[in-house]
Amino acid sequence: MNILKQQYIQILCAIFLGFIVAISFDQSSIFIPFGDIFIRLLKMMIVPIVFISIIVGIGTISDSTNLSRLGLKTLLYYLCTSLFAITIGLLLTNFIRPGEYFSLDNLPNDINPQGVLSAPSSFVDMIYRIIPTNPFNAIVNGDMLSIIFFALIFGISITQLSTERKKSIEPILLSLYDSIMFITAFIIRLAPIGVFGLIIKAVHNSGTGIIPSIGMYMLTIFIGLLIHLFIVLPLIFYMFTSISPLFHFKAMRNAMMMAFSTSSSSATLPVTMSCVRDNVKVSKTTSGFVLPLGATVNMDGTALYECAGVLFIAQILPGIDLTFMQQLTIVFTALLASIGAAGIPSAGLVMIFIVLQSVGLSNVAGVDIIVGAMLAVDRPLDMLRTMVNVTSDSIGAAIIAKSEGENLYD
Ligand code: ASP
Repeated sequence: MNILKQQYIQILCAIFLGFIVAISFDQSSIFIPFGDIFIRLLKMMIVPIVFISIIVGIGTISDSTNLSRLGLKTLLYYLCTSLFAITIGLLLTNFIRPGEYFSLDNLPNDINPQGVLSAPSSFVDMIYRIIPTNPFNAIVNGDMLSIIFFALIFGISITQLSTERKKSIEPILLSLYDSIMFITAFIIRLAPIGVFGLIIKAVHNSGTGIIPSIGMYMLTIFIGLLIHLFIVLPLIFYMFTSISPLFHFKAMRNAMMMAFSTSSSSATLPVTMSCVRDNVKVSKTTSGFVLPLGATVNMDGTALYECAGVLFIAQILPGIDLTFMQQLTIVFTALLASIGAAGIPSAGLVMIFIVLQSVGLSNVAGVDIIVGAMLAVDRPLDMLRTMVNVTSDSIGAAIIAKSEGENLYD
């Protein structure tokens, strides 16, 4: 069942049309509910998809050696690509030095950071949050890391059952999985209308007044994300699959456009799953394991952004010269922050406080104003970094599937 093949042209048109209507038609906000309803429908599917597909992905792995092999490959892929992305952010920001083009005095006076961003909790808190005291609460609250944690354990426990009992539970899980993907496919049909509304909302929510003072920062992040998306990830893909990356981009174009329109890896997950399964032809086992985990944990674009964003702030603040060790600390906290960031709009910007804290900059005067300015222009950056995040997950799924001997794209 592949309803996605012809849809990309419609989605592309919806993106363009959304931009045009938003900038030329005063009353365009009346279309915003189309986007909101579509997002609600996608979000409705996130928890069931993550929960069931991880259980199916792990539960259908034949033995624990295969499970550890798949787990190790996935982890290695996530770590390496995120570190590559962070390195790009580090080098570019040191080279372009966007902070030197920014002056706190040049900001328009409508920047009001107070109360816009809530500081995230500490790392220990994050670890506590991963282990749910009640998995049903985690499901009700949509607490992704806890849901993943419990689904992983549940899936692993299924692999420990006797073959006979495993055989009796497998068809039930697979039927549940197929029904959920059926609803998902139905919702995805509404994508062009939803995307139209979402783009109008994105344009309405973006501030443009401060672009002159923060343009260099935006450019640095854009260049970094584009290098990762169109050079680094395709190279990695080609190295491990010997397949032209163009095949992959073509197979994933709907998910990439959806990531761009929604700024949410989690909301895009239903579309990512469909593209990877139906177009890339990755098995349920591999896609069920790699993608839901990746949507929350593997965020290359966000990782690059965390590092570049903190260096940018440090460059603006007077008298701050980061040592090599401090930059190294930023690299590792940026990695952790990207893992902890939720797959929702602007989650990366909120997590930047954790990275700032690691080098003692979170409470320095002026930081909240700079972050407020970054928030005002975050939407377009978020659209691109989410696209990078989703593409990296899908490339990971393809590489890992290929290494497991799966036949792709036929
Ligand atoms: N919006 C991004 C995502 O969902 C996270 C971020 O803000 O960087 O992948």
